[in-house]
Amino acid sequence: MGKLLSLIIGEEEKPVQAIPLEHAALCANCETVFDVTGRACPVCCSEVYLNVGVALGDEETRSRVRDLVVAR
Ligand SMILES: [Zn+2]
Repeated sequence: MGKLLSLIIGEEEKPVQAIPLEHAALCANCETVFDVTGRACPVCCSEVYLNVGVALGDEETRSRVRDLVVAR
């Protein structure tokens, strides 16, 4: 929704909170799911996490996760 339209109808603009599976990580410390492109958990700053895409994704998703890890 456009910002101007939001102002006109008085609704607050909410950020989109959607994480593609290959970017999803589950923090081992506080059990928060976050976007792994941030590298560390935004809640507790832990860098110990499970790549959800590797655990739950199909072969194509796992391949994209590997590309993401190699690109670092
Ligand atoms: Zn955390």
